[in-house]
Amino acid sequence: MNTRQSTVLVIGGGVTGLTSAVHLSQQGFSVVITETADRWGGHAAQLACMATDGCVSCGACVVHGKILQVLSHPNIQKCLNTRIEAVDKAERFIVRLNQGQKIRQIEVDAILVASGFTPYAPHAKPYGYGRFANVLTTLDLNINLRQHTVVRRPSDATAPRQIAFIQCVGSRDSSINHLWCSKICCGVSLRMARRIQHRQPDTEITFFYIDVQTFGKNFEMYYADCRKQIRMIRTIPADILETGDHRLNVSYFNPDTQSYQETLFDMVVLSTGLEPSENAGNLAVTLNINPKALNYTRNQESVAAMLPDGIFIAGAALEPMSIAESVASAESAAFNIFQYLEPSQVIL
Ligand SMILES: Cc1cc2nc3c(=O)[nH]c(=O)nc-3n(C[C@H](O)[C@H](O)[C@H](O)COP(=O)(O)OP(=O)(O)OC[C@H]3O[C@@H](n4cnc5c(N)ncnc54)[C@H](O)[C@@H]3O)c2cc1C
Ligand code: SF4
Ligand code: SF4
Repeated sequence: MNTRQSTVLVIGGGVTGLTSAVHLSQQGFSVVITETADRWGGHAAQLACMATDGCVSCGACVVHGKILQVLSHPNIQKCLNTRIEAVDKAERFIVRLNQGQKIRQIEVDAILVASGFTPYAPHAKPYGYGRFANVLTTLDLNINLRQHTVVRRPSDATAPRQIAFIQCVGSRDSSINHLWCSKICCGVSLRMARRIQHRQPDTEITFFYIDVQTFGKNFEMYYADCRKQIRMIRTIPADILETGDHRLNVSYFNPDTQSYQETLFDMVVLSTGLEPSENAGNLAVTLNINPKALNYTRNQESVAAMLPDGIFIAGAALEPMSIAESVASAESAAFNIFQYLEPSQVIL
């Protein structure tokens, strides 16, 4: 068995890349993990705990254990602030790493792409994001919740009494050719709404939605419970205007009354969807792979069939997915790499 001589490059230090790095090193491979940012954990490391009376299984804390495992593993070379500049294939992959002041060349036997996603930037939507202080994305609200025990309005640091969540911002939207459902954002927003109400019971929450995706174990029951506390309106608002005191006037067609309506809120949270990572196109060119493999618009086409031998993809780089799904995808990719590098060791 020659596993100790094989090296795997993992591109991306989010929960997917970290999980696969740990599994690959446990299988006996040398691992090099690269991350363009200056910290590990990707998006999951920016999320707040959504526990109310108890844990609601949001999964956010999983990533911290993974970071510690990677940092303490002697067989994983860790490269922050690192870009993949060029990849050539000879007998092995010859990879040029750009580490700011330093260019390094390494040779690896397999590459796992775990470059994740980019949250949709909603500036072009008619909701005043970037102009109205109290219009936030779900990621902004996570950061807000990590900083304060109770949610605060960015305009004046007061606690909002009326909050609206607008779902499907940047997903299921033909005007921007984003036809996919981002899968995670209904659950994310409902958990945030319940966490806010748990700590600030006077908060009135309204949910504007198309329909609610109830993926996940026990989520149907959780959703039924949420509906008792949250006002659900099945419509997507037309626009938002800001009043003099930084309140937000939301206009929408109310299907219950069959009329156009305007309602004032103290804060609006845009449930922004997931897009392929902003550097996915460049990465596909560098790796010389079909750009569709890193793009959510491919339909039922098989990603494996698009990839040359030795290159694998996992996690949210493939499609929108939760932390638990990213972990499962990383474990499965690590197994596929083992099968590729050590076929004689695999007992099926
Ligand atoms: C607002 C919000 C809330 C969420 N809440 C939840 C939740 O409560 N529960 C849940 O299960 N999921 C949640 N998610 C989804 C969760 O964030 C993803 O499932 C998870 O982050 C996917 O992990 P990943 O490693 O595949 O991608 P990412 O987290 O995107 O990590 C990818 C990493 O790769 C790096 N990278 C990108 N390109 C390169 C490159 N070329 N070279 C090197 N590094 C690169 C990036 O900098 C990043 O660190 C939420 C997402 C958002 C946006
Ligand atoms: S899974 Fe989520 S809710 Fe549960 S403890 Fe971890 S971060 Fe908190
Ligand atoms: S998960 Fe919910 S909010 Fe997100 S795109 Fe799908 S339906 Fe819309």
